[in-house]
Amino acid sequence: MNPHFAYKDNILMAEGVSLADIAAQVGTPAYVYSKAAFTAPLDAFADAFKDVPHLVCFAVKTSANLSLLRLVAEKGQGADIVSGGELYKSLKAGIAADKVVFSGVGKTGREMREALEAGIMMFNVESAEELALLSRVAGEMKKIAPVAMRLNPAVDPHTHPYVATGLKESKFGLDRETALGLYAQAARDPNVSVVGLSCHIGSQLTSIAPFLEAAAKLKGVAQELAGMGIQLKYFDMGGGLGVNYNDETPPALAEYAAGLKGLLRDVPGLTLVLEPGRYVSGPSGLLLTQVLYNKINGEKRFVVIDGAMNDLIRPGLYGSYHRVLPVCRTGAPEVTVDVVGPICESTDFLAKGRALPQVAGGDLLAVMDAGAYGFSMSSNYNARPRAAEALVDGDSFTVVKARETYADLVRGEDPSA
Ligand SMILES: *Cc1c(COP(=O)(O)O)cnc(C)c1O
Repeated sequence: MNPHFAYKDNILMAEGVSLADIAAQVGTPAYVYSKAAFTAPLDAFADAFKDVPHLVCFAVKTSANLSLLRLVAEKGQGADIVSGGELYKSLKAGIAADKVVFSGVGKTGREMREALEAGIMMFNVESAEELALLSRVAGEMKKIAPVAMRLNPAVDPHTHPYVATGLKESKFGLDRETALGLYAQAARDPNVSVVGLSCHIGSQLTSIAPFLEAAAKLKGVAQELAGMGIQLKYFDMGGGLGVNYNDETPPALAEYAAGLKGLLRDVPGLTLVLEPGRYVSGPSGLLLTQVLYNKINGEKRFVVIDGAMNDLIRPGLYGSYHRVLPVCRTGAPEVTVDVVGPICESTDFLAKGRALPQVAGGDLLAVMDAGAYGFSMSSNYNARPRAAEALVDGDSFTVVKARETYADLVRGEDPSA
């Protein structure tokens, strides 16, 4: 578990702040982030690659609160974005436009214009039609679009099928032949400039081998391009480094870095781009909730809490595991329970078959390691206002996103229309 969330006198703390105090002041459900827990992996990435030209581009989709993105900006690091909205938020947080990488299979013309206007570092292109549109938009704007092709290296990341993106049959990336063809085309196109090569093979990887297998394939393409007279600047390995939610042993960052650096030693002149998401934000946040009821259906025991799948959809969507901890450690005997929310769906659970110390209505529970794909995937399903977000720094905390109100739920709607 992240050292920045630990018990002190049997109360679970975020750094120096009691989660019970945060719940009392902010209410529940609430996301609570630790600044130190968020910045430590950003620093670790910078450190692991400090001896080679590199750029860390935090994957904004994992956790897009402006106050967290500001921490990325303050480190001089960049952003990996997948939408115009994420570009807007990144720039607003102070991340330099020329450190922004635009990923994703479905960029719109409008998003391309916004990104060209801002002057981003590169577009990771995923199809011939996307390249054609980007070229047209750049031409209309009298700008030159910096592009990298996203290669689909056809490797099995051995992760959950919903988060595997580099398999041969996945919608992501380009096969080698198509990519080479597009490079040749782009090299002749005055509206684009070829700057890089990219991949992102999946998320929550727990071994190094698939990364290195992918990197070796990218390296082969880079060398072939050099032979065609196309010299790349950026070698973008995407994100995907896993974290420990339960019993996984994700690879050490040092091992990942050593593997990549070793592989690229004989291809000089490249800047390594890294797009960590979950590795940075996952362990940095938790979902703080309150117990509403205990409920027994036959043999099964449920703990009904005020947090739900609209707040944290990972368990329902992927069957993901999150540790659930009582905020106050009472020494009560353990019982096996499902921890569920109030939403009218059977996928509305946060934990299943979990041994938890017996709790009562009003007790607080922390759903751990929820900083990535937590709030950013949350919704208003069941007309539930989205949770507040709080950021802890040492002995104090700030509400960095106000809890939504009922008025927020009807913004833009008009019953008389
Ligand atoms: C989602 C994504 C990332 C981040 O992935 P993690 O597994 O959270 O590190 C990085 N790059 C791209 C292109 C992505 O789509």
